[in-house]
Amino acid sequence: MMETKNKTLGKLFVVATPIGNLEDMTLRALRVLREVDLIAAEDTRHTRQLLNHFDIQTPLVSYYREKEAERAEELAPRMLAGESVALVTDAGTPAISDPGAVLVRMARASGITVVPVPGPSALTTALSAAGMADGSFLFLGFPPARKGQRQKLLASLAETPWPLVFYESPHRIAAFLADILLVLGDREAFWARELTKMYEDLQAGAITQLLERVASGSKTRGEFVLVVQPGKKQEARGENLEELLSWYRRNTEFSLKDVSQRIARDLGLSRSVVYQKALGVWADSQEQS
Ligand code: SAM
Repeated sequence: MMETKNKTLGKLFVVATPIGNLEDMTLRALRVLREVDLIAAEDTRHTRQLLNHFDIQTPLVSYYREKEAERAEELAPRMLAGESVALVTDAGTPAISDPGAVLVRMARASGITVVPVPGPSALTTALSAAGMADGSFLFLGFPPARKGQRQKLLASLAETPWPLVFYESPHRIAAFLADILLVLGDREAFWARELTKMYEDLQAGAITQLLERVASGSKTRGEFVLVVQPGKKQEARGENLEELLSWYRRNTEFSLKDVSQRIARDLGLSRSVVYQKALGVWADSQEQS
């Protein structure tokens, strides 16, 4: 079936674009961006560079988060009048932690055909290299910017049996990893940073190991996709407990009581057992200092 302009109604093409490497642009995305009447872009300057690279002359209009409803109201009548529109964001697939959903809903409600044009997404790219045991996961996008809200969200996810997948920016990754350690414990995790770019960095390890990597400051640039594996309660009992307590003692300012309470709650252990172990760890560390 042809994807060119409908005689009466235009179409809305939701077009994925590269997340770093321009070679990931699909042939279909290129054709659609050339054929539509208009490209609605999250940041027109950013998309202009992409279009220039591929020598595409299609006119651009801006479509960004703060003005989604307003812009959608303007675009819908144009599509009803026969113009086809391609929606793109700065990188990856529109409407995944990105603007797009408002226009998609409005188009569909107006009887306009919505055509997804698949391609890169940081989410699927990271998961393809994460090596997860089965294909299930829970995608949560960006965690809340506020610490309290972040910790609350994590606590609500403590029993989730699937890997948790988040987007995160470089300046918040350390705080987020620390929150995960505090609320969910030292889980196995995986990060995918700078995907498809020159300094692509894939790391698997315990949260404490990833924290150490961030703290070493060698590479703090780059956007992240973070996969946090589900808790393994049985394995966390016993000798790991002392290690975990020592880590908290060395790396955080939390009191012995706070640490014991949190670990007991997060790992489903008796509070008095954890408290007794913590007394030993705190005493040892005082002797050493
Ligand atoms: N809709 C986009 C997609 O499908 O990939 C995601 C947009 S969201 C505003 C941007 C976030 O995606 C970044 O903060 C980061 O978490 C992730 N991301 C985008 N590009 C990435 C890359 N090259 N490497 C790692 N993560 C990336």
